[in-house]
This record gives sequence, C-alpha cells and structure tokens, in this order.
Amino acid sequence: PSITDYLRSHIRTVPDWPAPGVQFRDITPLLQDPRVFRVLIDTFVHRYMDRAQRPDVVAGLDARGFIIGSVLAYELGLGFVPIRKKGKLPFTTVQETYELEYGSATVELHADAVRPGDRVLVVDDLIATGGTMMAGKKLLEKLGAEVFEGAAIVDLPELGGSQRLREAGLALFTLVDFG
Ligand code: 5GP
Repeated sequence: PSITDYLRSHIRTVPDWPAPGVQFRDITPLLQDPRVFRVLIDTFVHRYMDRAQRPDVVAGLDARGFIIGSVLAYELGLGFVPIRKKGKLPFTTVQETYELEYGSATVELHADAVRPGDRVLVVDDLIATGGTMMAGKKLLEKLGAEVFEGAAIVDLPELGGSQRLREAGLALFTLVDFG
C-alpha cells in the first residue's frame, strides 16, 4: 500500500468521543507498532532533512505534537521547544488566546524559546479548525521567528482549518486526510 494508506490503516476512529457526534481520530496505534512509528517519523525526517526545507528549531503543540516533534527534532539534530497549554511553563512566557467552539483556550511559549529570525517548523498530530496551529504560529512570530511550515499527521479538510492556515500564509505538510 502507499505510505498514506499504510498510516491511515493505523489510525483508529472512535465515535462519540470526547462528545456525542465527534469522530475522534486516535493516532496512538501509529505509535504503538514499532514499524509504523518508524515509517511515520521517517516520512517527516525525509522532508525536513533537505537543506532547503531544514528548520532551525522544531516547535511541538501540546500534547501529541510533543511526541512527533521531539523525535523529529532529535533525528534532524535540532532543538525542540514545547508550546504548552496555559499554566504549565515555569519561566517568562508569551501567550496567545484563541476561540474554541465553546469558550477559549490559551497557549504559552517560553520567551527565550526561539531567537528572532529562526526558521521554525510547528508540529501537531492533527489539524481540525486550525485554531491551535494558528495560535502556535502567532506565538512564535511574537518572538520574531519565521514559521515556514506546519506539519501534522492528519488533516480534516472539511473543517476548513488547513485552508484558513494556508490563506494566512502558512505552508502545510500533512500525511492523511479524513473527509
Ligand atoms: P484545531 O485547533 O485545529 O481545531 O484542533 C486541533 C487540535 O485538537 C490538535 O492539537 C489536536 O491534537 C486536537 N484534536 C482535535 N480533534 C482531534 C481528533 O479527532 N484526533 C486527535 N488526535 N486530535 C484532535
């Protein structure tokens, strides 16, 4: 099978979680099988090892973006910085608040996590409305970094997030779409 189909076949759909009507795309089976985990990470490594695509820093979004992003950074010989949900980071932070379907969420980044001009890759497991990745991009830009691409395993294109992110000038690299 293609890499996309191979990865897709290891994503579990859980109906009505965390709320009725939601089809949650569970990526844990991808991590659990050592061969699939390696194919997943290597697919990202191959894209970002090229000199033209190589970031200076990898930023991961809380929490599944940490799993992919930290291994990817390690393999590329780069540093990793976490973008966390509010209240978790101990040092001085910059913050960004964004709207959810019900209420809002705030994410934070250490003020010294990146330097002005750094080319940063932002990583998460999945793009739905795009709000989380957009907030991550804004945080990094507050520190003067350039977010040159966002990477995720899954895109849910019907929710419009990936389109909004691209319209906001963020290039995206995703591996599996679910309609
Ligand atoms: P967005 O901000 O794009 O609406 O939602 C994406 C964020 O919510 C990501 O951080 C992602 O981990 C989480 N998320 C939302 N829906 C799902 C889902 O169906 N599966 C997984 N694995 N994560 C989801």
